[in-house]
Amino acid sequence: MKTYCDAGFDIGGTRLKYGLIDSEGRLVLKGKVRSPEAMADILAALEEAWGSLKKKAPGPIRSCGFGIAGFYSLKEQKILQSPNYPSLNGFPLVPALRKFIDVPFRIGNDANMAAYGEFAHGAGRGARSLVLLTIGTGIGSGIILDGKLWEGEGGYAGEIGHITVNPEGDPCNCGGRGCLETEASAPRIVKNYQALTGRTDVADSRDVYLLAKAGDPAALESFRKCAYYLGIGLGIVINLLNPEKILIGGGVVSAGKFLLGPAVEEARRRSHRISFAGCRIEKASLGNDAGLAGAAAWARLKAGSRK
Ligand SMILES: [Zn+2]
Repeated sequence: MKTYCDAGFDIGGTRLKYGLIDSEGRLVLKGKVRSPEAMADILAALEEAWGSLKKKAPGPIRSCGFGIAGFYSLKEQKILQSPNYPSLNGFPLVPALRKFIDVPFRIGNDANMAAYGEFAHGAGRGARSLVLLTIGTGIGSGIILDGKLWEGEGGYAGEIGHITVNPEGDPCNCGGRGCLETEASAPRIVKNYQALTGRTDVADSRDVYLLAKAGDPAALESFRKCAYYLGIGLGIVINLLNPEKILIGGGVVSAGKFLLGPAVEEARRRSHRISFAGCRIEKASLGNDAGLAGAAAWARLKAGSRK
């Protein structure tokens, strides 16, 4: 029997990741390269990766999906604004990709693709509704409602990282202030620690984690502050959507007991008891592969629905 595959690309700020999912949902092949900056170089890297996937695929590739950081307009089919790739802003990506991607393909927001990946192949399998929060340098998120990815009217839904959790908080890249992303992502853990101790030699959230593990009170307090705001964000999500699951992914998941534990407690205090009780808050399972797995699964779904 022939094995069909679907390809997924996750075009991130530092890495361009790609892979193949077979018809059983298994990730059968993956690779990554450093993300180039210029548009022509990005396209060249994509073309090369596509060629390599086609060559190594165990069977024909049926469809291909792309997850891209930024605001991708579903209506205009172009990226309106990409924080990592200014050269992509307004660029007509679809005709450029069509020159070498010879199967049906789809483009979406990277965080939405990651949420779809967890829903289709990861910790969200079987759930009817879920929210994925990926906490790292920023906070990405995507929403699955009633078994479908909720992209919103224009494709910009799921920006939970930019809901206000602290009205008096720091300015955010989005133009807002005190967003979940500015208050609870990895850089904030470091900023909290530096503000409490004056130690600028501690510049990585992993170092703060190790200090917290050793019982350092300032490190513990740095996490507690982030957990407080993360809990406010989770409470908003629970009250707004009543989701079956909230999955948390990203680099800070390993700081579970310092961040997630207290955040869940804060969410319990700030959401309706019944809604909170019906929501399972768990770790995401696909790690860095969520985006490419989701892009592939999403492309497959869309290619299938066109027939
Ligand atoms: Zn923001």
